[in-house]
Amino acid sequence: KTRVYRFGNKTADGNSKMKNLLGGKGANLAEMSAIGIPVPPGFTITTEVCTEYNDLGKDTVVDLIKEEVEQSIANIEDQMGTTFGDKENPLLISVRSGARVSMPGMMDTVLNLGLNDEVVQGLAKRTNNEQFAWDSYRRFIQMYGGVVLGMKPESKDDIDPFEEIMEHLKHKRGIELDTEFTVQDLKDLVYDFKDAVKKRTGQEFPTDPWDQLWGAIIAVFNSWNGNRAVYYRNMHGYPADWGTAVNVQAMVYGNMGDNSGTGVCFTRDAGTGENVFNGEYLINAQGEDVVAGVRTPQQITKLGSQRWAQLATIDEKDRFENYPSLEELMPAIFKELNGYQDTLEKHYRDMQDMEFTIQDGKLWILQTRNGKRTGAAMVKIAMDLLKEGMINEKEALLLIEPNKLDELLHPVFEPKALKSATIIAQGLPASPGAATGKIVFFADEANKYKNSILVRIETSPEDLEGMNIAKGILTARGGMTSHAAVVARGMGKCCISGAGALKINYKTRTLTVNGHEYHEGDWISLNGSTGNIIEGKVATMEPELSGEFAELMELTDKYAEMKVRTNADTPKDARIARNFGAQGIGLTRTEHMFFEVDRIKAMREMILADTVKGRKQALEELLPMQRSDFEGIFEAMDGLSVTIRLLDPPLHEFVPHQLATQKELADEMHISLQAVKNKVAELEEFNPMLGHRGCRLGNTYPEITEMQTRAIIEAALNLKERGIICKPEIMVPLVGTVKEFEAQEQIIRATANTIFEERNDTIDYLVGTMIEVPRAALVADLIAEKADFFSFGTNDLTQMTFGYSRDDASKFLPIYIEKGILKVDPFEVLDQEGVGQLVKIGTERGRSIKPNLKVGICGEHGGEPSSVEFCYNTGMDYVSCSPYRVPIARLVSAQAAI
Ligand code: ADP
Ligand code: MG
Ligand code: MG
Repeated sequence: KTRVYRFGNKTADGNSKMKNLLGGKGANLAEMSAIGIPVPPGFTITTEVCTEYNDLGKDTVVDLIKEEVEQSIANIEDQMGTTFGDKENPLLISVRSGARVSMPGMMDTVLNLGLNDEVVQGLAKRTNNEQFAWDSYRRFIQMYGGVVLGMKPESKDDIDPFEEIMEHLKHKRGIELDTEFTVQDLKDLVYDFKDAVKKRTGQEFPTDPWDQLWGAIIAVFNSWNGNRAVYYRNMHGYPADWGTAVNVQAMVYGNMGDNSGTGVCFTRDAGTGENVFNGEYLINAQGEDVVAGVRTPQQITKLGSQRWAQLATIDEKDRFENYPSLEELMPAIFKELNGYQDTLEKHYRDMQDMEFTIQDGKLWILQTRNGKRTGAAMVKIAMDLLKEGMINEKEALLLIEPNKLDELLHPVFEPKALKSATIIAQGLPASPGAATGKIVFFADEANKYKNSILVRIETSPEDLEGMNIAKGILTARGGMTSHAAVVARGMGKCCISGAGALKINYKTRTLTVNGHEYHEGDWISLNGSTGNIIEGKVATMEPELSGEFAELMELTDKYAEMKVRTNADTPKDARIARNFGAQGIGLTRTEHMFFEVDRIKAMREMILADTVKGRKQALEELLPMQRSDFEGIFEAMDGLSVTIRLLDPPLHEFVPHQLATQKELADEMHISLQAVKNKVAELEEFNPMLGHRGCRLGNTYPEITEMQTRAIIEAALNLKERGIICKPEIMVPLVGTVKEFEAQEQIIRATANTIFEERNDTIDYLVGTMIEVPRAALVADLIAEKADFFSFGTNDLTQMTFGYSRDDASKFLPIYIEKGILKVDPFEVLDQEGVGQLVKIGTERGRSIKPNLKVGICGEHGGEPSSVEFCYNTGMDYVSCSPYRVPIARLVSAQAAI
């Protein structure tokens, strides 16, 4: 079995299809090399080796790959004409992590590996550039120290131990930038760095290049199980056994002087999706500098540079002298780079995010990948690529990540509120959106307030969790490709970066701008589309969905076979869902209507009544209210099917539990407080979720079913008179035996017939059932003899199949997930293995009796992508989900059918 794959010099052992084995970075390095893009030669150790390492340990794995690694280093040496560890003409290498999916900054990379006190001399002589050689050496010790030897900051308001030494020296020397260090400074830094390593770890910094190499390879493997990576993996549901590949590659040097540099670029705008080449670079710098926000980077294109100058309010002359674009400064290099970005986008047929380095006037490409982007950019790019003819309709649909559509449905600032807002500063519009919240300065305090804005000098991968919690991210340093910007766009989170006017003090927890001081807990608002930082709270509103989004939704209809309905309890929700393209209502929960103030009283009277007569009286009061609710919903869904579920929750949920309200109720009903108390106590159940609820209510109190049926049928007839088409589907909840259903069905049909006679008019309606008790799934064939339709209530079905109480699961589910006993929360993601079997059995047995039986799902799962796909594969007619998930479900329905 091959464990090491080589690339370089326009050839490669691997290709871009081998991401699982070579990781995304390795697979794309191979692909680029094979299609003639200049990448420094190197090799990839496969992800399988990472898994072997986790199982077998270091020694065994080193034995397994030693020979292949040594031969592959020799191969790099041949191609570069340099020798690893050589004192005269040394080869330096980078050791880079790379999992099958990109996890920006989550794992570790070491640059300039192979240096020691002697090799650095050789490098200096050979390149005739002492400055460069020592700068590389100090960078190497710094990265190797951090990644392999664990030299990280000790607490959160500490800075990196190496940075601290550098800051100290800068201060002493009265300089600001790391490019201003002299050779002697760099030598001092190397000395001090090594000293710090010795002091903290008790060990000498390793001098043998081969020891360094193995140390770095193992460190990259370990980083797969580091806290940051584990958090990121869990967040996205990536399994632990994927592992990471290790890429070992000849160094190219962006820090050789003013004819060298490094940068990051995107073939399209990752924030808006606009088709403009863009990116940032730094002269005389190495890889990490751009992302880490060490210096403020410059723009790649002239256009970008002009836009940036406007935002930063600097004049044109200053812009050109101090921050020229690559296009202006190195036109030939720019032209070459522009050619590659074009080639790569066409080759991959998707927006690319690339890294490059210029070594003394020669351009090298170090990475390409499908770029992370916001939800809005995702939609625009897919539809643009389609229009440009680069991809077809199906491919465009498949470019959309369902869950990311959610971002487009989030609120935006009200234009009116924006007009009167006080802008306190401006930064780079790193990730669009509107965010309002209270200032926090530390990622691990992001959950201190319900809405927080994380304000940092810059962010680092450690901050990921907090960035995910915060509503928005604001940084004082770093450009459009800084860590904060890239991660925020990936999360679809509003972000403003590089707002240079901000003075942030972590110790005092204050933010100072133009003499104004803001404290932790103060409200600020961010407009990620303009870069405006606004004082206080700004009102938001629903976004408008048009343009490319509307086009995309139209496209889904062309391919989707399974319909998408919505769960809606009010006319308002029904209208929102219909705007999002809902094709009917899959679930109206009638009980939600009872919780309104004037209704709950009548409801309580009904529950407290001791006699059928008393109950009927109270139900009389409820009837007109329910009827008018249904009229509103039917009207909103004119022409579409509306499924209404009969009363479901245990009655106990409706009665008052506080003394004061109990008293009030007693007075109103002219009964004693004690009587109310007794009734409340009587309704108390040990296991309400398995108690007196669902059709058990309708079967013990048939008058409830009668009233609800009457409300539904009369509402439909009333609207029919007004020319509105109603298609009611009456749904009986919590059926477990066919008799339970039959008893309810009889009441419903009898009531409907009475009304038809009374009104001398009729309307078509269906009577069906929820399948949510496991027994119902098993006897679905018997039930299907009677029922017109099935709707899987997967919330209860999950609850009863697992035996996990939905209301108590939060006590153990998080621990189960952390321990890997469960992969995901089964109430969020349908458990296909277990609960899914019941769904399949229920559908099959039902359709064995009625081949055209209408089957749908109305649990929370109806809006979760993997569950929706499962529903399609099971042959359902529709899924039903909350209004805001409708576009997502429509997309998945189309994707599943492709
Ligand atoms: P990440 O996955 O965090 O981006 P990378 O492995 O891509 O980490 O490397 C970090 C930085 O180092 C990138 O900017 C990359 O371009 C740069 N880099 C990596 N390998 C080399 C190399 N052989 N020569 C020059 N720069 C490199
Ligand atoms: Mg990278
Ligand atoms: Mg239920």
